[in-house]
Parts: sequence; C-alpha cells; structure tokens
Amino acid sequence: MKIYNTLSKEKEEFVPIEEGKVRMYVCGPTVYNYIHIGNARPMIVFDTVRRYFEYAGYEVNYVSNFTDVDDKIIKKAVEEGTTAEEVSQRFIKECKKDMADMNVLPATTHPLATQEIPGMIEMISDLIDKGYAYVVSDGTVYFRTRRFSDYGKLSHKNLDELEAGHRSINVVGSEKEDDFDFVLWKPKKDGEPYWDSPWCQGRPGWHIECSVMAKRYLGDEIDIHAGGEDLIFPHHENEIAQSEAANGVTFSKYWMHNGFLNIDNKKMSKSLGNFFTVREIGEKYDLQVLRFFMLQAHYRSPLNFSAELMEAAKNGLDRICTAAANLCYQVDHAKTEEFTQEEQQYLEEAHTYIDKFKAAMEDDFNTADAISAVFELVKFCNQHTDEASSRAYVSGLYDILKQLCDVLGIIVSPQEEMLDADIEAMIQQRQEARKNKDFAKADAIRDALLAQGIILEDTREGVKWKKA
Ligand code: AMP
Ligand code: ZN
Repeated sequence: MKIYNTLSKEKEEFVPIEEGKVRMYVCGPTVYNYIHIGNARPMIVFDTVRRYFEYAGYEVNYVSNFTDVDDKIIKKAVEEGTTAEEVSQRFIKECKKDMADMNVLPATTHPLATQEIPGMIEMISDLIDKGYAYVVSDGTVYFRTRRFSDYGKLSHKNLDELEAGHRSINVVGSEKEDDFDFVLWKPKKDGEPYWDSPWCQGRPGWHIECSVMAKRYLGDEIDIHAGGEDLIFPHHENEIAQSEAANGVTFSKYWMHNGFLNIDNKKMSKSLGNFFTVREIGEKYDLQVLRFFMLQAHYRSPLNFSAELMEAAKNGLDRICTAAANLCYQVDHAKTEEFTQEEQQYLEEAHTYIDKFKAAMEDDFNTADAISAVFELVKFCNQHTDEASSRAYVSGLYDILKQLCDVLGIIVSPQEEMLDADIEAMIQQRQEARKNKDFAKADAIRDALLAQGIILEDTREGVKWKKA
C-alpha cells in the first residue's frame, strides 16, 4: 500500500510500526459551531482510509480529538451568556450527529483537550527540564523553536527564510526569546476557563493538545498523523517539535493532508460568508451524497463545491443504489438457486472489479478511481443479470457491490420496506384486537406501523393507511 507522505513529498510503501496494526491520529474540529463542509472533508476521507485499512485486515486505533477550549469557544460563550463548557458540549453532540449522518465511524477514542490537562502539564514540564521550553514573568511558557534542529522538516520551510518574511511583524517588548517560539501554556484572562499549573493559572496552547493526546492514546510513535493541509504549518510542524523533543523518537511515520474544499471556485471561509454547514446541506440532500461527492475527488486535490456538482454526485450515487436495489430484488425473486456455468464465469469476471478497486485504494487511496471501478461493476451487473438469473449468482454480485461500497462508507442496502400485504395483515390483527377490547394491543400495532412510517386512519369505510 502506498501513501503520499508530506514529510518526504513522495508516495511511500506503508510499513506499520507494529505488524497488522495502524495507530492513527486525525486533528479534529474546534467545537464552537456546527461543523462546515470543509471540516467534513478530513472526517470523510480519513474515515475511508481507516475503513480500507480495516478491510485490508489491519486493526486500526483511530484517535481524533475535539478542541474544546479555545478563544472562539470562549467568545461564543460570552455572546450567549453561557459557559465555554456548555458551548463545546453542545457542539460536540451536534458534530457527532453530523458524523453519524455522513456514516463516519466513531473514533476508537475521541479525547477532549479539557480532560487531558495533567498530561499537558507533564509534557510541558518535561520540555522545560530538557531545555526546549522556558517560562517568562507572567507565567507564559514558550517552546524554544530554534533548539529543535529538525524544525521545518514537514512544511519544508527553513527558519531563516521564514524570518525574512516575518520580520515586519516582530512584537515589540515581548519576552519571547525568538519570534518563532510558540505558546505551550498561557495565563488566564478574566472570565476565561483556567487550570492550575506550576507556572500560572491558565490554559494550554493549541499545539500541545494534540502531542499529548496522541501520546496518551497511541504512544510516542504513531503510524499516521492526518488533517487538512492548512494544518501543516505551523500546527503539525509544532506538534513534531514538541513530541520529538519530549519523547526523543520520531513522532509519526506518515503525514497525510487533505486538500481544501472551495465554494464556487473560491476559498471557503467564514469571513467571506461563503460556507455551508453540514446541517444545511443535510436539509437538501441525504448526507450520503455529500460523502460520495467528497470521495469522487482525490483527497489531496482541491475540491470545488457547487450545486451542479452535488446534483451530479446525487445522480451517480442513485445509479449505484438502484443497481444494488435491483440485485436485492432479484435475490428475493430468483426462480433458480444454483449457478449456471456462464454465471460462474461472469462472477469471476466481476471479481476483477474488486482488484481494480483495491489497486486504486492501494495507490494513495485514490477513491476517484475506486469509484470508477464501482461504476464499472454497476454497469456489468445491469448488463449481465435479469429475472432468469440464479439466486447464487445475483447474491454473489450483490456481495461484491456491497463490500466495495462498505469500504467507501456508502450505504447501499435498501431500507427494509414493508410490503402492502404485511401492512394489511397487521391492520387485520388490530381490528381483531379492538373487537376483543384489547386496546393495548391495538395501540401497540398502530405504533409499530407508525414506526415503519405507516399512518392509519379510521374512516367510515373502514381503516385506511398511507405512508408518512
Ligand atoms: P478547525 O476546526 O478549523 O481546526 O478544522 C478542523 C479540520 O478541518 C482540520 O483538519 C482542518 O484542516 C479542516 N478544514 C477546515 N476547513 C477546511 C476546508 N475548507 N477544506 C478542507 N478541510 C478543512
Ligand atoms: Zn492537531
């Protein structure tokens, strides 16, 4: 399996630290609002990476944090007259709902920054002891960036070049030893959440959170660290500096970064006002469509979001789901059980699409090509099945289609719809129950039907039903 590694700027063969296992950390959102569709991109693409590893037989320990203490959260809490904790808890819940609707699997662990403060204090103390960090008079702790000789290895930046670009923004009077030093711990301001520490009452810097959570849940050395490309510098560069200075080993073997999502070919940003929340998109489309739309592009490419492209994604997804539904129907209504010889050959041919799919995924998770293989399989199924097909054959094809869609996190199994005859039978039972004055049973049957989206109406001509 090949993975493009931002560290080497090359596709590299994936070799896990521990055989058969993958330790993976994905930087999660700051929870002060509903997530937007840009935040959804890393969730969807790295969930798919995880699903493929699992399909390939790896055991994946997948950790993704929620940043639940941050200036933006505090600002929102002040605006709403509530606490930062209430704001972050609320939006974590909403985020998890969006993730479920996009069929993003829950992480093995979703740590919260606020629950990991002791680990952060420990790592910061360790960095101070090792000479990689220092405290200034107000209790702020800074990382001594130049002390870490590998600084810049991920973003391929050189501090001296950066310095030339940054000279104009030197902060006069700061106690920082150097412009490139960044905050590990900062003193509280009035009304802000804070924790006790050896340096001052305050809170951690953003970068230290991820170094500590990755260490706690995955260990000092991890296989894959991922996030959006905007995080390469400075966030991931700083995480490397902190973790490697403290732990003395390579932090992550592979660094994966997704490209940005743009809207109508413009950078999507809150300040420009051109962004959509996942919730808004969910009002118009099944969020499976958003997932499918994202996976039709390579994860490293920039991706443009527009109404037309979403419509195209919806049509593509419908094509796959219709083929799956047809296969299911044929499985249920097949007149013969066993393969013909010709069917056996066709099924073997259908397996070549699995190979194509795998080859695409093994090449740096090329989901665009993997989806092409799924479309080819759909075409093949439509061409080579009919009402005379045997059950063994059509269920074999369905299994292949479902297997590949499962890896992409695309749900194709049709919702079990109640047949009219079953509904009529239940209505009959309810009538019987009413006749016997067993109203509890009659109500239970009505509720059971309602749960299936069937509404009963008692009319003068008898009981009528309709779909909700
Ligand atoms: P944030 O809450 O801004 O820290 O973002 C959480 C994750 O979403 C990070 O991995 C970001 O890189 C990613 N992200 C934010 N905006 C976009 C975007 N427009 N396109 C793709 N990824 C994004
Ligand atoms: Zn992070």
